[in-house]
Amino acid sequence: KTVTADDIRKSVEENDVRFLRLSFTDINGTLKAVEVPKSQLDKVLSNEIRFDGSSIDGFVRIEESDMVLYPDLSSWMVLPWTDKTGGKIGRLTCSVHKTNGEPFEGDPRNNLKRILKQMEDMGFSDFDIGFEAEFHLFKLSEDGNWTTEVPDNASYFDMTSSDEGAECRRDIVETLESIGFEVEAAHHEVGAGQQEIDFRFDDALTTADRVQTFKMVVRQIARQHGLYATFMAKPIEGEAGNGMHNNMSLFKDGKNAFYDANGEYHLSDTALFFLNGLLEHARAITAIANPTVNSYKRLIPGFEAPVYISWATKNRSPLVRIPDAEEINTRLEMRSADPTANPYLLLAACLAAGLQGIKEAKKPMAPITSNVFEMSEKEREERGIKPLPSTLHNALKAFKADDLIKSALGEHLTQSFIDSKELEWSQYNQSVSDWERNRYMGY
Ligand code: GLU
Ligand code: MG
Ligand code: MG
Repeated sequence: KTVTADDIRKSVEENDVRFLRLSFTDINGTLKAVEVPKSQLDKVLSNEIRFDGSSIDGFVRIEESDMVLYPDLSSWMVLPWTDKTGGKIGRLTCSVHKTNGEPFEGDPRNNLKRILKQMEDMGFSDFDIGFEAEFHLFKLSEDGNWTTEVPDNASYFDMTSSDEGAECRRDIVETLESIGFEVEAAHHEVGAGQQEIDFRFDDALTTADRVQTFKMVVRQIARQHGLYATFMAKPIEGEAGNGMHNNMSLFKDGKNAFYDANGEYHLSDTALFFLNGLLEHARAITAIANPTVNSYKRLIPGFEAPVYISWATKNRSPLVRIPDAEEINTRLEMRSADPTANPYLLLAACLAAGLQGIKEAKKPMAPITSNVFEMSEKEREERGIKPLPSTLHNALKAFKADDLIKSALGEHLTQSFIDSKELEWSQYNQSVSDWERNRYMGY
């Protein structure tokens, strides 16, 4: 759908919008925004809103800090809640540009567009993405902070009649639908307090934008229910973690290029080559797909999260699964990513790896047919099944050694990603946890 500047002007009047929120995403995947009063609407629509980029993680140094916001008009939305004064807020997702008008290469969204262009140059029209983002709902304390107390004791697909978690989830779903999301599934997940809401797949840029909006909505509605939503990968030790399965397909000439009626598993060669690229670069991609210290506490056996680099058609234990699907839905489901990943970086890296695989035209290893966790170490070795990196530190090492994945981020983002993550790792390394005190105090 195309939205014009006039459509937005009209919507501002009709909805009595008083503020305009211009949002963009930093290196860590955090949604940032500049908010201006309605009086600035003309400037907003003619790409004239500036901000100081030096205050944003991974952006720029003081010397070159002026940045300009170019709103994507099709992202226009009136937020489905009001501020304290009752005023409505209009929201636009933006790309960040330099003052000379060029797209800023440190903006993850611009970077995804750059890789999508490479895809188009190879003859594909769309990289379609469906995310399955899981999250936890915890009770808020009286002073409005998170706790680790869950609002329910339900489990997978449970339909308990009246719990706060389910009510909140329904409210989230309805709010999402009111702003144009097509919600295809919403259910309680395995963990106590854990939820999943899936919205329909769409092209990569749209889906990355949407998942940012999705998180904002989930957090906001949770608060209205006295709950705190977290997308942290593993909030509770010994319980299921939060994944964000990434379902990918490529389209060419209006058709799903991953589908072949005569192919083995109904997969085309294109799909198998893409898959091989993904597996070959999986260790480096992990730094982006699982970008926090805590992410690696989810990638352990026993909680439906992957640990080994392999693929399968039925089994849910490997990194990539090929779900049973109709032609249009034929896809690769990458199961490692978690919702702390920056969606723009994640999709740029996965797409670049897949396109590289297509260029190299090599078939992947054979799919596994049994549970990869039940194989002996020797069997995994014989089949060439390697583990994913076990810590953020190891993932960063793999990332630094992978020129293709670094080029998928470009120089600027690669450097800010490494800087940001190395700092995080070193802070973690210096911290002394309760686990250590409990274990070593008696020494
Ligand atoms: N919560 C699981 C994970 O950490 C995924 C469960 C599922 O298959 O939906 O990835
Ligand atoms: Mg799930
Ligand atoms: Mg899934």
